[in-house]
Parts: sequence; structure tokens; C-alpha cells
Amino acid sequence: MDLGVRLSRSLLLAAAGSETLNAVATRSRVVRRATRAFMPGERAEDALEAGAALAADGRSLIFTRLGEALTSLDEAEAVRDHYLRFLDAAAARGLPSRISVKPTQLGLDQSPESCLRHAMDLAEKAETVDSGLWLDMEDSSYVDRTLELYEAVKTRHPRTGIALQAYLHRTPDDLERLRPLRPAIRLVKGAYAEPPDVAFPRKADTDAAFEALAGRMLGWAAEGRGGAPPGCLPVFGTHDLPLVRRLIGRAEAMGLEQGRYEFHMLYGIGMRQQAKLRAEGHAVTTLISYGEAWYRWYMRRLAERPANVGFLLRSMFG
Ligand SMILES: Cc1cc2nc3c(=O)[nH]c(=O)nc-3n(C[C@H](O)[C@H](O)[C@H](O)COP(=O)(O)OP(=O)(O)OC[C@H]3O[C@@H](n4cnc5c(N)ncnc54)[C@H](O)[C@@H]3O)c2cc1C
Repeated sequence: MDLGVRLSRSLLLAAAGSETLNAVATRSRVVRRATRAFMPGERAEDALEAGAALAADGRSLIFTRLGEALTSLDEAEAVRDHYLRFLDAAAARGLPSRISVKPTQLGLDQSPESCLRHAMDLAEKAETVDSGLWLDMEDSSYVDRTLELYEAVKTRHPRTGIALQAYLHRTPDDLERLRPLRPAIRLVKGAYAEPPDVAFPRKADTDAAFEALAGRMLGWAAEGRGGAPPGCLPVFGTHDLPLVRRLIGRAEAMGLEQGRYEFHMLYGIGMRQQAKLRAEGHAVTTLISYGEAWYRWYMRRLAERPANVGFLLRSMFG
């Protein structure tokens, strides 16, 4: 990544923390329209509608309601209740779907005990409607608490998954720590602004770390052949297509069938490639976001590809 792109990324991630810009952007009809490239709408109904269209090709779905930085436990309870209703709504439509939740949305900052109770409620409900719970990974200050939460929930609800970020120096150790659980891990590159002693500043290093971690996960999944349970469900949350192709090659070389590993991608990014991978028989899941608190999330999408700012400016100025 050249210096200009790194600078733009840092500026966009810094802007993600601005309350003033948040207030301006969320009031702007033009910016709201530009977010439609990455989210079908703010309402749960918009997300379900878009999901139903995508599921027609056999793709599965993950839904997430955007939101960060809760201030009270009542809000966390409301988030849990929202997802409980959402799981019913998705099941009523017969959508092959799971939910992905940020632990801070369930009150991790306010009370780890309540957060655990809410996560257990969601995982239990998800099981009853043939769905599943994924835990997102937020900034590095939450990793320890999120791993502890995952360990507790996964023990009772085996379909639960967790995101790990390849850019963190600690992730190889975290992966080993989770191994005894036969974890479902969605490996992502990482979307937050982190200092260099915590995460790789250079994208090339993150990319290399991703590939090394992914190889390890595929190896654990391959242990499951011949009747033994797989040691891991590897999920790759990336739109990096050359990387995706290399991982498919590695999985095939290990004799891992399609479906023993998955690709998760975001709604609005590489949609044609998602359909193509699905047509080739790969397990592809599209993550659809919705909700009113989209500002920080949208800024992270711009930071991942600063060229997206051009798209936003064109929407604003015609
Ligand atoms: C399903 C899923 C769940 C995620 N969950 C988390 C999480 O819990 N915690 C977390 O920190 N991060 C999460 N992320 C975000 C992730 O960390 C990366 O920031 C993001 O996926 C971009 O990196 P990349 O792997 O796609 O590869 P990159 O190497 O950054 O991009 C590869 C190519 O993908 C395309 N692309 C990537 N991003 C965009 C974009 N915004 N707009 C348009 N094109 C783009 C471009 O063509 C680019 O060349 C998640 C991502 C996905 C797909």
C-alpha cells in the first residue's frame, strides 16, 4: 500500500470517530443514498428483502444490525430482543441465515455477565430456528473479553462462530488457544485503526499473516476426514480474489471438499464474484448490514478502499 493510500485510510478511520461528522452524515440524504452500495436499507425488512433475492442461488446469509458504543444495559437488552425477533422473521421467510453481533452491542462494556447471558439467549434461539450466532471482533481492547465470551458460548452452543483478525500480532496464539474447541472461525484482515505494536501497519504483512493462518485452519479442518470430526470450520471473510483462489487450491490439495470451508463476503462488494464462486459450488455467504447507526461502519468501508470516496463524492456532486 503506498503512502497516499495509508494516509487516506488513517484519515478515514480517524473520521470514523468524529461525533460531528457522524451527525452531519447521518442527516444527509445524499450520503444515506450513497451507503446503499453497501447496505440495502436501514430497516430489518430491507435486509430480509435483499437477502431473499440473494438466497435464490443457494447462497446463505448473515445479517447484522449496525450499532456501536452503547451507554446502558437497557440498550443491550433491546439489541438482544431485536435479534430474537429478527431470527423469527428470517425463519418465517425460510431464509438460510445466521446473525453476526458485536459483543459491545450486547453490553460487554457495561457488564460482561449480562453480555454473556444475552449471547447465550441468542445462540439458544438461533439453534431452535436452525440458525447460528457469529461474534464479530471489534478493536484490540476487546479481544480478550470476546475470546472469553466465545469460549463460554461455544461450549454450550457448538454452532457459534467468532471472527479473528489477521492484522493483530497476537492472532496466531489466539488461534491455538481456541483449537481445543473445534472452533468456527471467520478470519478477516481487520478493520480498525491499531498501533504498530498491536497490528501490522503494512497491508502486505497482514495479507501474508492471513494466508499463513488460513493454511493452519484448513489443515485442522482436513483432520476431520475419515469419520473423525473436523478440527475447525474455516471461514474466510475476504474479497481478495487472488487469495480466495489460492486458498481453494490449498483446500483441494488437502482433499477438503467444498462446504468444509466457507467464504463470507459483504453485501455490495464483489457481488458478481460471489455469484460465480457460488455457481462453482463453493459455500458463499453474504453478510447484509442494516440499521440506522451506519456511520462508523460506512467509514470503515471507505477506509478499506479509499477509491470508494470518489463514489461518494460523485453521488454528492453528480
Ligand atoms: C463477512 C465479513 C465479516 C467481517 N467481520 C469483521 C470483524 O468482525 N472485525 C473486523 O475487524 N473486520 C471485519 N471485516 C472487515 C475486514 O477486516 C476487512 O476490513 C475487509 O474485509 C476488507 O478486506 P479484504 O479482506 O476484503 O481485502 P482487501 O485486500 O482489503 O481487498 C481486496 C479487494 O476487495 C475489494 N474490496 C475490499 N474492501 C472493499 C470495499 N470496502 N469497497 C469496495 N471494494 C472492496 C477490492 O476490490 C480490493 O482490491 C469483515 C469482513 C467480511 C467480509
